[in-house]
Amino acid sequence: MALVGIARLASQGELLEAKREVEYFELPSRSILNRTKPNMPFRWTINPYRGCEFGCKYCYARYTHEFMEMAPEEFEDKIYAKTAGAQLLRQELGRTDRRDWIAVGTATDPYQPAERRFGRTRAILEVFARERGRHLSLTTKSDLVARDVDLLREIARANVLAVNLTITTLDEKLARALEPRAPRPELRLQAVRRLSAAGICVGVFPNPVMPGLTDSDTALDRLARTAREAGAMVFGGGALFLQPAAQKVMLPFLAREYPELEKRYRELFAGNAYLGRAYKDRLAVRVGRIRERYGLAAGMIEYRPELWPGEEQGELFPLE
Ligand code: SF4
Repeated sequence: MALVGIARLASQGELLEAKREVEYFELPSRSILNRTKPNMPFRWTINPYRGCEFGCKYCYARYTHEFMEMAPEEFEDKIYAKTAGAQLLRQELGRTDRRDWIAVGTATDPYQPAERRFGRTRAILEVFARERGRHLSLTTKSDLVARDVDLLREIARANVLAVNLTITTLDEKLARALEPRAPRPELRLQAVRRLSAAGICVGVFPNPVMPGLTDSDTALDRLARTAREAGAMVFGGGALFLQPAAQKVMLPFLAREYPELEKRYRELFAGNAYLGRAYKDRLAVRVGRIRERYGLAAGMIEYRPELWPGEEQGELFPLE
Protein backbone atom coordinates (compact mmCIF):
# COMPACT_ATOMS: atom_id res chain seq x y z
CA MET A 1 0.00 0.00 0.00
CA ALA A 2 1.39 3.44 -0.94
CA LEU A 3 2.11 5.59 2.09
CA VAL A 4 0.50 9.04 2.17
CA GLY A 5 0.75 12.21 4.28
CA ILE A 6 2.61 11.89 7.56
CA ALA A 7 3.30 8.17 6.96
CA ARG A 8 5.13 9.05 3.73
CA LEU A 9 7.10 11.88 5.36
CA ALA A 10 8.11 9.57 8.22
CA SER A 11 9.30 6.88 5.81
CA GLN A 12 11.56 9.46 4.12
CA GLY A 13 13.04 10.82 7.39
CA GLU A 14 16.82 10.74 7.49
CA LEU A 15 18.20 8.57 10.32
CA LEU A 16 19.70 10.97 12.88
CA GLU A 17 21.07 8.43 15.33
CA ALA A 18 20.49 4.87 16.56
CA LYS A 19 21.13 4.10 20.22
CA ARG A 20 20.23 0.81 21.94
CA GLU A 21 16.88 -0.04 20.50
CA VAL A 22 15.87 3.62 20.08
CA GLU A 23 16.21 5.28 16.70
CA TYR A 24 16.00 9.00 16.03
CA PHE A 25 14.81 10.46 12.74
CA GLU A 26 14.28 13.83 11.17
CA LEU A 27 10.63 14.57 10.41
CA PRO A 28 10.21 17.16 7.68
CA SER A 29 7.36 19.46 8.78
CA ARG A 30 5.21 21.91 6.91
CA SER A 31 3.85 23.50 10.06
CA ILE A 32 4.72 23.62 13.77
CA LEU A 33 1.64 25.35 15.27
CA ASN A 34 -1.43 23.13 15.46
CA ARG A 35 -4.85 24.63 16.11
CA THR A 36 -6.91 22.86 18.80
CA LYS A 37 -10.61 22.14 19.02
CA PRO A 38 -12.69 25.06 20.40
CA ASN A 39 -13.27 23.59 23.90
CA MET A 40 -9.58 23.27 24.80
CA PRO A 41 -7.94 25.62 27.35
CA PHE A 42 -5.33 26.57 24.75
CA ARG A 43 -5.75 27.58 21.11
CA TRP A 44 -2.47 26.28 19.68
CA THR A 45 -0.13 23.40 20.42
CA ILE A 46 3.51 22.73 19.59
CA ASN A 47 5.13 19.31 19.82
CA PRO A 48 8.77 19.42 18.71
CA TYR A 49 9.01 15.60 18.74
CA ARG A 50 6.84 12.75 17.58
CA GLY A 51 7.11 9.61 19.70
CA CYS A 52 8.41 9.65 23.29
CA GLU A 53 11.12 7.53 24.83
CA PHE A 54 9.72 7.81 28.38
CA GLY A 55 7.28 5.04 27.43
CA CYS A 56 4.47 5.67 29.92
CA LYS A 57 2.12 2.70 29.86
CA TYR A 58 -1.00 4.90 29.72
CA CYS A 59 0.30 7.35 27.11
CA TYR A 60 -2.60 8.58 24.99
CA ALA A 61 -0.36 9.84 22.18
CA ARG A 62 0.62 6.36 21.02
CA TYR A 63 -2.08 6.60 18.37
CA THR A 64 0.02 9.25 16.57
CA HIS A 65 2.46 6.52 15.50
CA GLU A 66 -0.45 4.54 14.08
CA PHE A 67 -0.91 7.42 11.62
CA MET A 68 2.61 6.58 10.46
CA GLU A 69 1.66 2.91 9.99
CA MET A 70 3.57 1.84 13.13
CA ALA A 71 2.64 -0.23 16.19
CA PRO A 72 1.85 1.59 19.49
CA GLU A 73 5.04 0.10 21.04
CA GLU A 74 7.18 1.79 18.37
CA PHE A 75 6.09 5.14 19.82
CA GLU A 76 8.91 4.73 22.39
CA ASP A 77 11.54 3.35 19.99
CA LYS A 78 11.25 5.50 16.89
CA ILE A 79 11.53 9.15 17.77
CA TYR A 80 11.04 11.87 15.19
CA ALA A 81 12.50 15.34 15.66
CA LYS A 82 10.65 17.94 13.61
CA THR A 83 12.84 19.95 11.28
CA ALA A 84 12.93 23.73 11.09
CA GLY A 85 10.46 24.13 13.98
CA ALA A 86 11.89 27.48 15.09
CA GLN A 87 11.94 28.85 11.55
CA LEU A 88 8.34 27.74 10.93
CA LEU A 89 7.26 29.19 14.26
CA ARG A 90 8.65 32.62 13.40
CA GLN A 91 6.56 32.56 10.21
CA GLU A 92 3.41 31.13 11.79
CA LEU A 93 3.20 33.28 14.93
CA GLY A 94 2.05 36.16 12.74
CA ARG A 95 -1.34 34.51 12.24
CA THR A 96 -2.05 34.08 15.96
CA ASP A 97 -3.57 36.46 18.47
CA ARG A 98 -1.11 37.27 21.27
CA ARG A 99 -3.82 36.49 23.84
CA ASP A 100 -4.19 32.91 22.59
CA TRP A 101 -2.59 30.33 24.83
CA ILE A 102 0.05 28.26 23.05
CA ALA A 103 0.87 24.95 24.76
CA VAL A 104 4.18 23.15 24.20
CA GLY A 105 4.28 19.40 24.90
CA THR A 106 0.62 18.37 24.71
CA ALA A 107 1.21 15.09 22.85
CA THR A 108 4.84 14.20 23.44
CA ASP A 109 7.36 15.30 26.04
CA PRO A 110 9.39 18.31 24.88
CA TYR A 111 12.22 17.40 27.31
CA GLN A 112 12.52 13.70 26.52
CA PRO A 113 16.09 12.35 26.06
CA ALA A 114 16.18 13.40 22.38
CA GLU A 115 16.13 17.04 23.49
CA ARG A 116 19.62 16.73 25.01
CA ARG A 117 20.98 15.95 21.55
CA PHE A 118 18.76 17.82 19.16
CA GLY A 119 17.62 20.89 21.13
CA ARG A 120 14.43 21.37 19.14
CA THR A 121 12.46 22.58 22.19
CA ARG A 122 15.17 25.04 23.17
CA ALA A 123 15.20 26.46 19.63
CA ILE A 124 11.45 27.07 19.92
CA LEU A 125 11.83 28.76 23.30
CA GLU A 126 14.50 31.02 21.82
CA VAL A 127 11.83 32.32 19.41
CA PHE A 128 9.46 33.04 22.31
CA ALA A 129 12.24 34.82 24.21
CA ARG A 130 12.10 37.51 21.52
CA GLU A 131 8.29 37.81 21.74
CA ARG A 132 6.16 40.08 23.92
CA GLY A 133 2.68 39.58 25.34
CA ARG A 134 2.36 35.91 24.40
CA HIS A 135 0.62 33.31 26.55
CA LEU A 136 2.72 30.18 26.69
CA SER A 137 2.51 26.95 28.68
CA LEU A 138 4.89 24.02 28.68
CA THR A 139 4.31 20.54 30.10
CA THR A 140 6.93 17.91 30.84
CA LYS A 141 7.92 14.99 33.08
CA SER A 142 11.59 15.82 32.84
CA ASP A 143 13.94 17.73 35.10
CA LEU A 144 15.83 18.67 31.91
CA VAL A 145 13.45 21.64 31.77
CA ALA A 146 15.60 23.26 34.48
CA ARG A 147 18.46 23.43 31.95
CA ASP A 148 16.49 26.21 30.26
CA VAL A 149 15.71 28.20 33.40
CA ASP A 150 17.46 31.34 32.11
CA LEU A 151 15.61 31.22 28.82
CA LEU A 152 12.29 30.60 30.59
CA ARG A 153 12.98 33.55 32.87
CA GLU A 154 13.66 35.68 29.84
CA ILE A 155 10.33 34.61 28.30
CA ALA A 156 8.47 35.31 31.56
CA ARG A 157 9.78 38.87 31.68
CA ALA A 158 7.62 39.91 28.72
CA ASN A 159 5.07 37.12 28.30
CA VAL A 160 2.68 35.11 30.47
CA LEU A 161 4.38 31.75 31.06
CA ALA A 162 3.26 28.60 32.89
CA VAL A 163 5.51 25.56 33.26
CA ASN A 164 3.84 22.31 34.32
CA LEU A 165 5.59 19.26 35.72
CA THR A 166 3.58 16.06 35.45
CA ILE A 167 3.93 13.93 38.59
CA THR A 168 1.41 11.10 38.74
CA THR A 169 2.74 9.59 41.97
CA LEU A 170 5.42 10.12 44.60
CA ASP A 171 5.79 6.34 44.91
CA GLU A 172 9.12 5.69 43.15
CA LYS A 173 8.37 2.02 42.50
CA LEU A 174 4.97 2.73 40.99
CA ALA A 175 6.39 5.60 38.92
CA ARG A 176 9.15 3.32 37.58
CA ALA A 177 6.55 0.72 36.58
CA LEU A 178 4.13 3.18 34.97
CA GLU A 179 6.69 5.57 33.43
CA PRO A 180 9.75 3.36 32.95
CA ARG A 181 12.20 5.84 31.43
CA ALA A 182 10.90 9.14 32.84
CA PRO A 183 12.96 10.92 35.53
CA ARG A 184 12.17 9.95 39.13
CA PRO A 185 9.43 12.00 40.87
CA GLU A 186 12.04 13.53 43.21
CA LEU A 187 14.01 14.86 40.21
CA ARG A 188 10.82 16.41 38.85
CA LEU A 189 10.20 18.05 42.23
CA GLN A 190 13.73 19.44 42.17
CA ALA A 191 12.86 21.06 38.83
CA VAL A 192 9.70 22.56 40.40
CA ARG A 193 11.85 24.05 43.20
CA ARG A 194 14.43 25.44 40.78
CA LEU A 195 11.89 27.02 38.44
CA SER A 196 9.75 28.49 41.17
CA ALA A 197 12.84 29.91 42.90
CA ALA A 198 13.59 31.63 39.57
CA GLY A 199 10.20 33.38 39.71
CA ILE A 200 8.48 31.17 37.12
CA CYS A 201 4.85 30.11 37.61
CA VAL A 202 4.96 26.32 38.04
CA GLY A 203 2.15 23.79 38.18
CA VAL A 204 2.19 20.14 39.20
CA PHE A 205 -0.17 17.88 37.29
CA PRO A 206 -1.01 14.42 38.65
CA ASN A 207 -2.61 13.64 35.28
CA PRO A 208 -3.76 11.16 34.34
CA VAL A 209 -5.26 10.19 37.68
CA MET A 210 -5.58 6.38 37.48
CA PRO A 211 -8.30 4.44 39.35
CA GLY A 212 -6.90 2.07 41.93
CA LEU A 213 -3.33 3.22 41.25
CA THR A 214 -2.95 6.93 41.96
CA ASP A 215 -6.43 8.20 42.85
CA SER A 216 -6.57 7.77 46.63
CA ASP A 217 -7.20 10.89 48.75
CA THR A 218 -4.02 10.18 50.70
CA ALA A 219 -1.83 10.00 47.59
CA LEU A 220 -3.33 13.11 45.95
CA ASP A 221 -3.20 15.10 49.18
CA ARG A 222 0.46 14.21 49.75
CA LEU A 223 1.31 15.11 46.18
CA ALA A 224 -0.44 18.50 46.39
CA ARG A 225 1.21 19.31 49.73
CA THR A 226 4.65 18.35 48.41
CA ALA A 227 4.05 20.36 45.22
CA ARG A 228 3.04 23.41 47.26
CA GLU A 229 6.12 23.08 49.46
CA ALA A 230 8.26 22.92 46.31
CA GLY A 231 6.75 26.23 45.14
CA ALA A 232 4.00 25.09 42.75
CA MET A 233 1.06 27.49 42.33
CA VAL A 234 -1.21 25.24 40.25
CA PHE A 235 -2.41 21.67 40.76
CA GLY A 236 -4.16 19.72 37.98
CA GLY A 237 -6.19 16.54 38.27
CA GLY A 238 -7.67 15.06 35.09
CA ALA A 239 -8.86 11.46 34.96
CA LEU A 240 -7.28 8.74 32.84
CA PHE A 241 -8.60 8.06 29.37
CA LEU A 242 -7.47 5.11 27.32
CA GLN A 243 -7.84 5.09 23.58
CA PRO A 244 -7.46 1.74 21.80
CA ALA A 245 -3.74 2.32 21.01
CA ALA A 246 -3.05 3.06 24.71
CA GLN A 247 -5.17 0.08 25.85
CA LYS A 248 -2.93 -2.24 23.80
CA VAL A 249 -0.03 -1.34 26.11
CA MET A 250 -1.77 -0.51 29.43
CA LEU A 251 -3.98 -3.61 29.72
CA PRO A 252 -1.19 -6.21 29.21
CA PHE A 253 0.91 -4.16 31.66
CA LEU A 254 -1.87 -4.38 34.28
CA ALA A 255 -2.26 -8.10 33.63
CA ARG A 256 1.45 -8.59 34.41
CA GLU A 257 1.90 -6.16 37.31
CA TYR A 258 -1.55 -5.51 38.81
CA PRO A 259 -3.71 -8.48 37.75
CA GLU A 260 -6.41 -7.54 40.25
CA LEU A 261 -6.96 -4.28 38.34
CA GLU A 262 -6.87 -5.61 34.79
CA LYS A 263 -10.42 -7.01 34.75
CA ARG A 264 -11.75 -3.80 36.34
CA TYR A 265 -10.02 -1.63 33.73
CA ARG A 266 -11.32 -3.83 30.90
CA GLU A 267 -14.85 -3.25 32.21
CA LEU A 268 -14.31 0.48 32.77
CA PHE A 269 -12.94 1.08 29.28
CA ALA A 270 -15.01 -1.45 27.35
CA GLY A 271 -16.15 0.34 24.21
CA ASN A 272 -15.23 3.76 25.61
CA ALA A 273 -11.93 5.56 26.03
CA TYR A 274 -13.30 7.73 28.87
CA LEU A 275 -14.30 7.05 32.45
CA GLY A 276 -17.91 7.73 33.42
CA ARG A 277 -19.20 11.17 34.37
CA ALA A 278 -19.86 10.11 38.00
CA TYR A 279 -16.19 9.14 38.58
CA LYS A 280 -14.93 12.31 36.92
CA ASP A 281 -17.29 14.52 38.94
CA ARG A 282 -16.28 12.87 42.23
CA LEU A 283 -12.62 13.25 41.34
CA ALA A 284 -13.11 16.94 40.49
CA VAL A 285 -14.74 17.57 43.89
CA ARG A 286 -11.98 15.72 45.77
CA VAL A 287 -9.16 17.46 43.89
CA GLY A 288 -10.94 20.81 44.36
CA ARG A 289 -10.95 20.30 48.15
CA ILE A 290 -7.28 19.36 48.13
CA ARG A 291 -6.41 22.47 46.09
CA GLU A 292 -8.28 24.64 48.53
CA ARG A 293 -6.44 23.06 51.44
CA TYR A 294 -3.09 24.12 50.00
CA GLY A 295 -4.06 27.34 48.21
CA LEU A 296 -3.40 25.99 44.73
CA ALA A 297 -5.07 27.18 41.52
CA ALA A 298 -6.84 24.85 39.09
CA GLY A 299 -5.37 25.82 35.76
CA MET A 300 -3.43 28.37 33.81
CA ILE A 301 -3.16 31.67 35.61
CA GLU A 302 -2.01 35.02 34.33
CA TYR A 303 0.93 35.12 36.68
CA ARG A 304 3.38 37.94 36.30
CA PRO A 305 6.50 37.56 38.38
CA GLU A 306 7.69 40.20 40.77
CA LEU A 307 10.47 42.41 39.54
CA TRP A 308 13.80 40.76 40.08
CA PRO A 309 16.24 42.94 41.97
CA GLY A 310 18.07 45.24 39.58
CA GLU A 311 16.02 44.19 36.56
CA GLU A 312 13.26 45.81 34.58
CA GLN A 313 10.33 43.53 33.90
CA GLY A 314 9.37 43.61 30.21
CA GLU A 315 5.99 45.15 29.63
CA LEU A 316 3.30 42.97 28.22
CA PHE A 317 2.45 43.90 24.70
CA PRO A 318 -0.45 46.38 24.81
CA LEU A 319 -3.59 44.46 23.97
CA GLU A 320 -5.79 46.31 21.59
S1 SF4 B 1 6.00 11.51 28.91
FE1 SF4 B 1 4.02 12.00 28.01
S2 SF4 B 1 4.32 11.75 25.82
FE2 SF4 B 1 6.01 10.71 26.84
S3 SF4 B 1 5.34 8.60 27.00
FE3 SF4 B 1 4.81 9.64 28.90
S4 SF4 B 1 2.69 10.33 28.61
FE4 SF4 B 1 3.52 9.83 26.59
